[in-house]
Amino acid sequence: MKKFTFILIILVFSLLAFKPASTQSALDGKKVLIDAGHGGSDPGSTECSGLYESDANLDIAQRLKALIEADGGEGFLIRDGDYYMTNADRYNLANQVGGDVLVSIHLNGWYDHDMNYTQGLYAKYPKDYLFTSVVHESLADELGIDDGGVRQFASGVVLKSDMPATLQEAVFISSTEECAKLTDDSGDRQQEIATALYHGLVEWFNDPQAFNPGKRK
Ligand SMILES: [Zn+2]
Repeated sequence: MKKFTFILIILVFSLLAFKPASTQSALDGKKVLIDAGHGGSDPGSTECSGLYESDANLDIAQRLKALIEADGGEGFLIRDGDYYMTNADRYNLANQVGGDVLVSIHLNGWYDHDMNYTQGLYAKYPKDYLFTSVVHESLADELGIDDGGVRQFASGVVLKSDMPATLQEAVFISSTEECAKLTDDSGDRQQEIATALYHGLVEWFNDPQAFNPGKRK
C-alpha cells in the first residue's frame, strides 16, 4: 500500500509537470544575443535626415528583445545605449555571456535614395549560413521590399561569435520611402522589422531540420 501511494504521488507530479509540446513556445528558455550595429561616435548610415542608423538599430533591438521575452525567451542586448563599441568588444561580450544565437541588426545605406532591399549576411558556412537563411526568409516575406538574398561577409562580430550568428541589413534607411516610415514617430516600421526578425527566430527554433544543410536551400 505504501508503495502504491508513492507511485501515485509520482504519477500526479508527473502529470502536473507535463506540458504539451503545442503550448510551449519555440523561444521558451532560449537566449538570443541582439547586437544593435554602430553607436556613439559611429552613427552608421546618416543618409536619412533626422535618424541615425545606430539609433534605429537600437530601437529595433529593444523591440525584438521585448517580443522574445513576451514569448518566454531571453533577449540580451550587446549594446544597450548610444555608445561606441568595437567589433571585438561585441564578440567578446557575446562569447562571455553566451547564448543560443546572435542577431546583429543593421540598416543599409547608399547614396541612391531609390535603392531598397533586405539582405542577410553570414560569415561561416554552415554555422551562420543556415541561421542567416532562415531569418532572412522571414524578412524577405514580411517587409514588402525586394529580396537582396543572402551573401557571405566576414563581419567581425558574426565571424568571431561562438554561436550561430547573422547580420541582417533589414532595409535601406537611405531609401526615401523607408526613411519617411522610420521617422513618422509611430514606430510601426521598426516594429515590423523587429517582428519579422522575431518570426525568423521562431522558425529557426521550431525546425530542428534547419540544422541539416541538405534539408534547406
Ligand atoms: Zn550598419
